Amino acid sequence: MSGSHRHGGRQPLACIIPPFLLERMAEAGDAAIRRRAVVDLAQATAIQAVRDLVRSMPSLLATPSPGCCRERLVYDARGRDELPGRLVRREGDRRSKDPAVNEAYDHCGATYDFFRDVFDRNSLDDEGMSLISSVHAGESDGHGYQPMNNAFWNGSQMAYGDGDGVVFERFTRSLDVVAHELTHGVQSFTSNLVYRGESGALNEHFADVFGVLVRQWSQARAATTEPVPRSWLIGAELVVPAPTRRAVRDMQRPGTAFVEDPLLGTDPQPGHMRDRYRGSADRGGVHINSGIPNRAFVLAAEALDDQPWETAGRIWYDTMLEIPSRAGFEDAARITLRIARDDHGADAAKAVREAWKAVGITVPTAKKRQRPQTAGETA
Ligand SMILES: [Zn+2]
Repeated sequence: MSGSHRHGGRQPLACIIPPFLLERMAEAGDAAIRRRAVVDLAQATAIQAVRDLVRSMPSLLATPSPGCCRERLVYDARGRDELPGRLVRREGDRRSKDPAVNEAYDHCGATYDFFRDVFDRNSLDDEGMSLISSVHAGESDGHGYQPMNNAFWNGSQMAYGDGDGVVFERFTRSLDVVAHELTHGVQSFTSNLVYRGESGALNEHFADVFGVLVRQWSQARAATTEPVPRSWLIGAELVVPAPTRRAVRDMQRPGTAFVEDPLLGTDPQPGHMRDRYRGSADRGGVHINSGIPNRAFVLAAEALDDQPWETAGRIWYDTMLEIPSRAGFEDAARITLRIARDDHGADAAKAVREAWKAVGITVPTAKKRQRPQTAGETA
């Protein structure tokens, strides 16, 4: 299938747990952890194959779009890998006895509300697309099923595993993880950033930005008395607590989410261009180098006086709508800076420029930008 070959990899794999962590776990001393990590890796590869197929045959995206309003559907995969499974809660239904069902429902709702209330966006496609989740997703090792140790967006729905209970808990627990996966969905209708190298790291970056903003916004909305301390962690609720791990990623201090963990190793994310990963693993470091723009976003947001989803979030949202699919970090810096200057004024522009500079990305000044375009540049 030439289309599949040509476009293969443009859609995000969109698993929250990156392959290098599964590979690390596949070398664990504990045979049970090693065995399931190998199954997890096989599962991730199978998901990519489905994504490539969907990419080449858009008709497979048969998600009903009511076209008006919030429509959540939660399915129970009952420990199997056939999606979506049995429908257990639809929009307006009463709460379930199953916490995973309620978390998927509530977190999809918070994500929908965030994009509607903050950016006037009607669901992932801006046309009211249904938000479909499958909880208790399992994976087969050829002999039987075990709870999936991951969460993913497959191009038309989310799926969440229950975790191994050793490193990862139930994957519906973190609102920022659910919102991260759904933002991959938003991007498939907007930036569609190629999921490799710097453009892939930007795809992961935008998913982390709106993942964390949905959580911060939702916490602020729910807070009755004291404001919740601001956290820039991704997936804090889904790691089994241990002194060597706090989360899956830390946007403010990349490289510190887990340190010398016996099962996960040390968080490989850099926070500056001089430390960027240049290897080929993880599709050229899409979950690794995203630490660089992540830190720039946090610096910009923290330099401004308002809530992170107000000015900084708006600049990044508008950037996500217009950024070309093959953009790199410098393109992202240039577009955010222009939007900051044009729509939000000098203070916002200063905050954005200094944030990118702090991670090693200097945006050429207006004077320098008047040089003739190089061959690689696009209009
Ligand atoms: Zn992702």
